[in-house]
Amino acid sequence: LPPFEPLDPAGIDDLLSADEKAVRDSVRQLCNERIDPYVADWFERGAIEDVRGLAKELGALGVLGMHLEGYGCAGMSATEYGLACLELEATDSGIRSLVSVQGSLAMFAIWRWGSEQQKQEWLPRMAVGTAIGCFGLTEPDVGSDPGNMRTRARRDGSDWILDGRKMWITNSSVADVAVVWAQTDEGVRGFVVPTDTPGFSAPEIKHKLSLRASVTGEIVLDGVRLPDSAAFPEVRGLKGPLSCLNEARYGIVWGAMGAARSSLAAALSYANERTQFGKPISGFQLTQQKLVDMNLEYTKGVLLALHLGRRKDAGTLRPEQVSLGKLNNVREALEICRTARTILGANGISLEYPVIRHMNNLESVLTYEGTVEMHTLVVGQAMTGQAAFR
Ligand code: FAD
Repeated sequence: LPPFEPLDPAGIDDLLSADEKAVRDSVRQLCNERIDPYVADWFERGAIEDVRGLAKELGALGVLGMHLEGYGCAGMSATEYGLACLELEATDSGIRSLVSVQGSLAMFAIWRWGSEQQKQEWLPRMAVGTAIGCFGLTEPDVGSDPGNMRTRARRDGSDWILDGRKMWITNSSVADVAVVWAQTDEGVRGFVVPTDTPGFSAPEIKHKLSLRASVTGEIVLDGVRLPDSAAFPEVRGLKGPLSCLNEARYGIVWGAMGAARSSLAAALSYANERTQFGKPISGFQLTQQKLVDMNLEYTKGVLLALHLGRRKDAGTLRPEQVSLGKLNNVREALEICRTARTILGANGISLEYPVIRHMNNLESVLTYEGTVEMHTLVVGQAMTGQAAFR
């Protein structure tokens, strides 16, 4: 029999192909060597040391827009993309957010809805990480209900003029290009906005206690004049942004399990080393119960992610199933981190260990890309046929 692997107790690894394992291992190696030694410091300082350099390294690895075809993207499977997200988030949810926003929100929006010219102009640069993208949907007064957005785009001759504010936008302060969603006379439309356009600014949001190794900012649009060619040509309404969110949420289904694995691994090794009352704390039944329960939820979460990944690759993944996965896996990952935190005792609150960093990060992950309540209502509606949103 193959040996029992404490961090893969059910042997899920056997469900992965050699190619999938190779992708996972290459992302893990980059994270181990280039991010893990520094990320706690970035978190503490609230800034990634060299975000442009990091974006280029991630681009060279091929993870930016890795599940997209053409335009310099790697064209990998959804399962491979998911495995990469898990490894990135095992390092830090902020690093996974950088990759998710770049690939699944900004690049995917341009890839799916952009004109040929927009794709040619932006995707190859974004794939190698020389151009950073962001995705502006949320506003100061509008979060879960984006249909009520205030940001407006109005026609001026053949040009568009954008006015409004976006809030909580990952990467905005360092971005070269922003995909901005705005209300128009024809419904919500998307715009590809170079961030050096006059009237565009993106002040950074400070004082976050979560996702500190990630840049979050506002987007202020003050009479931003854009040519007609800046608009996505065809898509109208919330279908545009929601299709992108669905992509990013899929990555989170996997990613959250990375934060969980890292916390579980830290708790297990700590429990084996820490001695109280004359024996390792891993020898106490209460500690074992925690470790086993964490591992059960981790294992079920990874299996769910893999199952949804296979469905996505087969073209049968429904948005409600992504909601199910995001809801379960982020909620359980947070619970795993909280339990791991207790096993580390006082050390659990220190940045010397990854646990409280993951735990704080997951508070953002629980809220962004559709809050836990919104996904509950999506699944509730799918089950009962009754919408309970309003
Ligand atoms: P609200 O919508 O005001 O909700 C507040 C609370 O009320 C929540 O618990 C919510 O679930 C609950 N609630 C609302 N309506 C209902 C209802 N009908 N029934 C029951 N409960 C309800 N946005 C972007 O566009 N781009 C980004 O790159 C981005 N990055 C982010 C990065 C970080 C670190 C964070 C924290 C957020 C980011 N967001 C981004 C914003 C995020 O998507 C929103 O915060 C999220 O959609 C929730 O919106 P809100 O914060 O306005 O909360």
